[in-house]
Amino acid sequence: RERKMYMACRNDIHRYDAPFMAVYKSLIPAEEELEKQRQLMAQLENLVAKEWPHAKLYLYGSCANSFGFPKSDIDVCLAIEDDDINKSDMLLKLADILESDNLQNVQALTRARVPIVKLMDPVTGISCDICINNVLAVVNTKLLRDYARIDVRLRQLAFIVKHWAKSRKVNETYQGTLSSYAYVLMCIHFLQLRRPPILPCLQEMKPTYSVRVDNIRCSYFDDVGRLDNFGSSNRETIAELVWGFFNYWAYAHDYANTVVSVRTGSILGKREKDWTRRVGNDRHLICIEDPFETSHDLGRVVDKFSIRVLREEFERAAEIMHQDRNPCAKLFEPY
Ligand code: ATP
Ligand code: MG
Repeated sequence: RERKMYMACRNDIHRYDAPFMAVYKSLIPAEEELEKQRQLMAQLENLVAKEWPHAKLYLYGSCANSFGFPKSDIDVCLAIEDDDINKSDMLLKLADILESDNLQNVQALTRARVPIVKLMDPVTGISCDICINNVLAVVNTKLLRDYARIDVRLRQLAFIVKHWAKSRKVNETYQGTLSSYAYVLMCIHFLQLRRPPILPCLQEMKPTYSVRVDNIRCSYFDDVGRLDNFGSSNRETIAELVWGFFNYWAYAHDYANTVVSVRTGSILGKREKDWTRRVGNDRHLICIEDPFETSHDLGRVVDKFSIRVLREEFERAAEIMHQDRNPCAKLFEPY
């Protein structure tokens, strides 16, 4: 495989800032949509409180991490501190309650990997999945949202990367490519490693937030309102960052030996994580450490076929950023 490292600088790169910004702006959900989500959430909270007064509902995933696209489904977690609940019974009960309140397409999927109830709200047109006690997802959602508040370039870059991944069909975990969650972590990590850095490493700072979830201590500095100038000495713009991101994953990342880690804001060795061998279905062909569940490699869905697809797509994107006359159009061309 030809290994190229683009040191050369494209001196017209800033011409593409405006078109990339336009793409970013077109992907931000409208305020009315967020209002509808809140409306549905309030209705669900009401229904749940009648049956389980001590339960709490949390939004998680893209509707709450500030990396959501327009018209996405919403993900809700019902958290209940009760040792002897039976999740299946509870989901079935919940499905009954929702159905009697005129919510539509209600379905309890009690045997799924993450058991959920699905529903569609005919008033707002929003579809929603509700799971029980998936609190780690609520906490990692908050971490992503907090990072997004520090520097707007994270949101810009992540929207463009997600849009690219969806257009090029490399955002499908069931086909061995990466989740949106993994792509956002890759963007955070990339911005932590810019020089000067655009994002700090919140988990290495003095914690102001700390919770224990499923025996995992999740703590980090979450007073991000005090960090809003953090990245200001780095003047890189969106087109440069998109270019740098794809260039990194196409030509600079050491797939054989390293792990990207948002938790430490650094690149770790596969050896120190003992991710050098295939164990079961975990091949560790591209390694992205979950910030809290550190034994969890978000690249574990990737197999020997999909790694090639992924790397070819990174290279295609890097080539386009390097030399195409209209990179903004070409990058998102449907696969
Ligand atoms: P999309 O716009 O594609 O729906 P999303 O932000 O909802 O994006 P998903 O990858 O669908 O992203 O994940 C939803 C949420 O579930 C994430 O924000 C994260 O909290 C959690 N999550 C997803 N995958 C994992 C995983 N492998 N390990 C831990 N948490 C995960
Ligand atoms: Mg989602």
